[in-house]
This record gives sequence, C-alpha cells and structure tokens, in this order.
Amino acid sequence: APTPLIAGNWKMNGLAASLAEARAIAEGVGDGPARVALCPPAILIHRMTEVVAGSKVLVGGQDAHSEDSGAFTGDTSAEMLADAGAKLVILGHSERREGYRETDGLVARKVRAALRAGLEPIVCVGETLVQRKAGDALAVVTGQVRGSLPAELAGRDFSVAYEPVWAIGTGLTPTTAEIEEVHRAIRATLVETFGAPARRVPILYGGSVKPGNAAEILHADEVGGALVGGASLKAADFLGIVRAL
Ligand code: 13P
Repeated sequence: APTPLIAGNWKMNGLAASLAEARAIAEGVGDGPARVALCPPAILIHRMTEVVAGSKVLVGGQDAHSEDSGAFTGDTSAEMLADAGAKLVILGHSERREGYRETDGLVARKVRAALRAGLEPIVCVGETLVQRKAGDALAVVTGQVRGSLPAELAGRDFSVAYEPVWAIGTGLTPTTAEIEEVHRAIRATLVETFGAPARRVPILYGGSVKPGNAAEILHADEVGGALVGGASLKAADFLGIVRAL
C-alpha cells in the first residue's frame, strides 16, 4: 500500500504571524504513519521551512509555472520553489483550472517542470456538481488523470488528489462509497498508464476534510491521504486529521 500523505493547502491565506500554526503542527505531529506537508503561499515557503525544521513536516508550493525561467511577470518557477525549500508542489488545483483556465495539457507541462526541479507533484482532479449530476464524474476524472499526468512521471514520486469541486469549502462531501468508486477508477487509470508500480501512488481525497470526518474518509478503500484546505490553517484541526489515520 502507498505511504499516506496528509497535505495542507493554505491557499491565499496566512501571514508571517500564521507560521505559529505551522510551528504548532511541527511540534504536535509526532511520528505517525503518514507523511505530512504544508503548502503555504510561495512567499512564506522559506520561512515555513525554518519553522518546521527538525520535524517531519515537509513544505510545498501551490502552483508553479510550466517554464523554468523567463519573461513571465508575477509567476514563480518550480526551481524557485525548490530553492526556497519546497519538496512538493500542488498542480492543477480546480481553483487554478477554473480561475486561470488551466487545461490538462498545461497541467501536464507544469508537472514536467516540477520534475525537472526535483519537486514531487500533487496533481489535482475533480468533477463539478453539474458533471456529477449528469453522471459524468468518472469520465471527467479519469480524463483529467490521463491528460494531466505526463509519461515522465513513470518511476517518480507523485500523488493524485481527487477533489470534487462541489466539496471544496462547502462542508459537503461525497459518500464514502462515492469516494471509493472514484478512487478505484483513478487507480485503474494509473495502473493502465504506468503499470504495476502505480499501485504505490497515493490517491488523496480533498474537499471539506475535517477532524470529524477524517477517520472514515482516510480509511476508505484506495484513499491514501488527504489534501486539506480550511482545516489546515489551524493546528488543532490539522493535527486532528493527521491523528485520524
Ligand atoms: P477545503 O478543505 O477547505 O474544502 O479545501 C479543499 C481544497 O481545495 C484543498 O486543496
């Protein structure tokens, strides 16, 4: 079975003062079975690595450009994230796909850039409520997996995060059976694409994960961890999720 990964996505939240929460997470995270990561805004990455130094908490980015450097005002390259101390990077989050028109093809190019920089990608997929209601969730998600994961991922460490768009920040979650159905479909697509080694790729669930629902979600079939938004901003909540495993 894959080593589980619990990753916090701070999104566009957090100031230097918020690093006290990261410090509390580092102090409380202990030595459980999961890998643990926090992904703050890029400008906090360097300081966060100092705050969590000596603990098992890894630091990641939330996005990276598809090119290594150049005239891309306002953007951040994967190499810059790595230089600041990041080990992982979230790519293809639905807030990027929707807000910045990121396509599967662009996400795949960003994944390649992350691999060139030595970062471990967390590639996000997930259907909208309209797509789920139309019965298209599995087709949408497996299509995103095929289109967003380049062949270069073979033999590299990465994870896939299933985040139904309608579950993000809403307090709504799919049933455990619905999560398992999608995760099994993602696993089958990964094995089809990358062969048997893809059985070790963690498939994270994301969308309104809280301490109260974490145990059931994290123990569901083919769930290899969680990508946590709102509940990663408070140490008590995030540690509650880590300890649910
Ligand atoms: P919430 O946990 O706030 O629903 O956010 C999920 C998410 O988008 C993590 O990337």
